[in-house]
Amino acid sequence: MIRAPDLKQKLDTLMALAADDRDGLPPRLRRSNEAGALRPLNIRYLRPGGAPTALLRILMTNACSYNCHYCPMRRDRELPRTLLKPEELVRIFLGAHRRGWVQGLFVTTGIPSNPVKVMDDLIQALELLRERHGFAGYIHVKLVAGAEAAQVERLTALASRVSVNLEAPCGQSLSRIAPEKSLPVALADLERVRSQVLRERAERAQGRPRDPLHPNGVSGMTMQFVVGATPDTDRTLLDTVTRLQAGGGMHHAHFSAFRPISATPMESAPAAPALREHRLYQAEYLLRDYGFAADEVVYEPSGNLPLALDPKSAWALAHPERFPVEVTRASAEELFRVPGIGPVAAARIVAERGNAALRGLRDLRTLGVVTTRAGGFLTLRGRRLQSARWTEQLGFWAPEDEAGSYHLTYSVSPGTFR
Ligand code: SF4
Repeated sequence: MIRAPDLKQKLDTLMALAADDRDGLPPRLRRSNEAGALRPLNIRYLRPGGAPTALLRILMTNACSYNCHYCPMRRDRELPRTLLKPEELVRIFLGAHRRGWVQGLFVTTGIPSNPVKVMDDLIQALELLRERHGFAGYIHVKLVAGAEAAQVERLTALASRVSVNLEAPCGQSLSRIAPEKSLPVALADLERVRSQVLRERAERAQGRPRDPLHPNGVSGMTMQFVVGATPDTDRTLLDTVTRLQAGGGMHHAHFSAFRPISATPMESAPAAPALREHRLYQAEYLLRDYGFAADEVVYEPSGNLPLALDPKSAWALAHPERFPVEVTRASAEELFRVPGIGPVAAARIVAERGNAALRGLRDLRTLGVVTTRAGGFLTLRGRRLQSARWTEQLGFWAPEDEAGSYHLTYSVSPGTFR
């Protein structure tokens, strides 16, 4: 893991790489840290099911001609602006990659002129990386909605993953917070990317070899919503996510809790609780990876997820007829419906219980079960594993304990790096 001072040194080095050495840093970039434009240039670690992968995340520019009410980079907000040219972005990335600091790239941008021009710059950066420098690694790129269809296809062809900022689940809400954006336009682009991702996956499944320089978005799409900036409920958000995921080609959805930014039209609007964002991620996870149906998610009368309970526990409380679950007989699907048991722990229980007699909570813990949470929902050979009733069990956690120290500070648009 890179410690903060090391990271700063590295980023200073990377910024110097933005220019040719003989020229020094161009005036445009000399105040880039003060400008805040390139401060989001950072390194983030991902663990896509294995060894951590370091991604260099780059914002090409904080200049924007749009005026989204929630965004610190909006046109009318006083802010020093700067930008990286495609070749500068490429030099920064390759400098970090050659040093072994990063394996992949995440690139996003404001929209300083119009979507067509910005998409040309993004495409140029990716073409330089793939076709001139032969970089065959992971590239995640944020699509600029409203570009030409051929640009969307070209960018998708060059990227490993493409994300689309939808911001709001309905067009009416979107126009309240982002007057220049159009949900139908963003959704049309999303469908264009989706058909390319699905075609690529189908051709690979039929044996066509992968082309690492033209992955065609094969890692899937992501979509992003700003939560709490509009009156849309969690139910509306998750119904939209479920509907869009049903078409395939999606990897996951991102949710960014709205935070008011000074000198924007929404500076007095209340922040959305960070815990709400966390609950949405938990619910989306249940829908995507745990086999929950949309109508199984439990909402409050307001249409939002309960904050005091995680969505799985809320479902468990609403279904007392499904508990307790007998560890020695339950299927993996029944086991991972228990709060505190995920798919991996459920599979381990099913595999291990045939080989060795499970004796109690300690054995379950070694298999990855969060026994303080699951114990009250389980029996082992007919014997309850915890004296506390499962309904009381859930009272042991304050919501904050579970969410941990969940801080949100945005120096760029919420969702920029999602
Ligand atoms: S959200 Fe995006 S398009 Fe809107 S002002 Fe911010 S950077 Fe520009």
